[in-house]
Amino acid sequence: MPEKTRKKSTNKKSARPAIGSNGAHRSQILSDECREVVANSVRHILNAVGEDPSRNGLAGTPDRVARMYDELLEGYSVDPEAMLNNALFDVEYDQMVVVKDIEFYSMCEHHMIPFFGYAHVGYLPDAQVIGLSKIPRLVEMFARRLQVQERMTHQVATFLEDLVRPLGVGVVVEATHLCAVMRGVKKHHTRMITSAMLGDFRNNISTREEFMAHIRHGGNPGL
Ligand SMILES: [Zn+2]
Repeated sequence: MPEKTRKKSTNKKSARPAIGSNGAHRSQILSDECREVVANSVRHILNAVGEDPSRNGLAGTPDRVARMYDELLEGYSVDPEAMLNNALFDVEYDQMVVVKDIEFYSMCEHHMIPFFGYAHVGYLPDAQVIGLSKIPRLVEMFARRLQVQERMTHQVATFLEDLVRPLGVGVVVEATHLCAVMRGVKKHHTRMITSAMLGDFRNNISTREEFMAHIRHGGNPGL
């Protein structure tokens, strides 16, 4: 469900548990009523494709799928402020920070099946740096939603820019989309690459090339 819709629906029909103090973990984001709606919808799909939802093997599937969506879409319920709280540090460091090969799994919003791959994130600190473990969690927060890769890439970059106020941010995402490899053209090794370059990463070609070299050469660009 798009974020806008979900925000509007914070009523008794879809009330979610309060966000935990670290904002990162929760056992359930869909209310029992919402899970029931998802499970019933899956039963409708099973019926529509000619299956018997009560047969052995499928009997538990609708509820299982409903529970699974809690996990796959948990990014909607992560409070970024809470998750990142106290993770900004004043450090005199003016070299590029790169976190690469961040594995992620997301859901294509056009087909509701996964796309997955790696995100590479770099920034050039100005006055602050962010705790290392927070960047993968940031990627996770935007991945665990119904997404398109281009938007996810941009969201990670702009969120980091707004938060850390660095001199520049670069994000490159490479992913395999099951909606492309399982259907349509069926090119199994096709990957899609998207990037978002902000600030110095956009304006300064040597900054951008340093970032790309880090990504290409296992963190050792030989600079
Ligand atoms: Zn798709």
